Amino acid sequence: MVREIINSGNPILRTVSKEVSRITPEIHILIKDMIDTLKASPIKGVGLAAPQVGVNLRVVIILLKDTKSENIIPLINPQIVSFRGEEEEYEGCLCLPRLYGKVKRHQEVKLKALNEKGEPFVMDLKGLSARVIQHEIDHLDGILFMDRMEDPTQLYYEDLPNLFPTYK
Ligand code: ZN
Repeated sequence: MVREIINSGNPILRTVSKEVSRITPEIHILIKDMIDTLKASPIKGVGLAAPQVGVNLRVVIILLKDTKSENIIPLINPQIVSFRGEEEEYEGCLCLPRLYGKVKRHQEVKLKALNEKGEPFVMDLKGLSARVIQHEIDHLDGILFMDRMEDPTQLYYEDLPNLFPTYK
């Protein structure tokens, strides 16, 4: 089921989300709904965090793609355990439609999380995927991308869709 994506200004986006202590059927439904919501989004997205659909739980999904395939991976209680490098690039967010700004992120991150069965796994991400997961984990901590802009006056509105890579 597609859920509504909430807008910035909603206090849910500024709340630190709770860890998932047990993988219940509700968590499975939440993940499925988040995937439906990401797929249904008019702007092609590469990730979504539970607070964006109004749920303050530490659950995110990210779209991983290579030349052959596209997979949406759920991550429960994701945590960055190490990182390398730094890169500044444009970001946007579905909760802040058409706003963009340059944000510094780590180029590579190693993270640990639980899968849908509650089993721990580790994952190495770099480039765009690394940027996306840092953006999504920020959502779990009530942080929006403009909070991380070195110069917030450079936040700008752009009415042309897909001019820059879109992050959710
Ligand atoms: Zn976002």
